[in-house]
Amino acid sequence: MDSAVSRILKAKQYAAERDQRVKVHSFEVELHGDNANHIVSYHRGDWVCDCEEAALRGVCPHIMAMEEILGDSVEPALLATPH
Ligand SMILES: [Zn+2]
Repeated sequence: MDSAVSRILKAKQYAAERDQRVKVHSFEVELHGDNANHIVSYHRGDWVCDCEEAALRGVCPHIMAMEEILGDSVEPALLATPH
């Protein structure tokens, strides 16, 4: 098989198997909430959001949205220690 084709197939396979293949170590995103924009960041299982709810409970709809998007590639926020 052509090596360019095999790289593309490999990439598609890795992407399809993302929950087993990919583990996110850290990221920072801006989430456009209904009332304000929020910065959600993650570092090796530690979730942070700049909203009030995250400060009180350690979890909020913004963090939960990112968990939903990233699936098993991240550690669940509910198990994390509140900040
Ligand atoms: Zn939040």
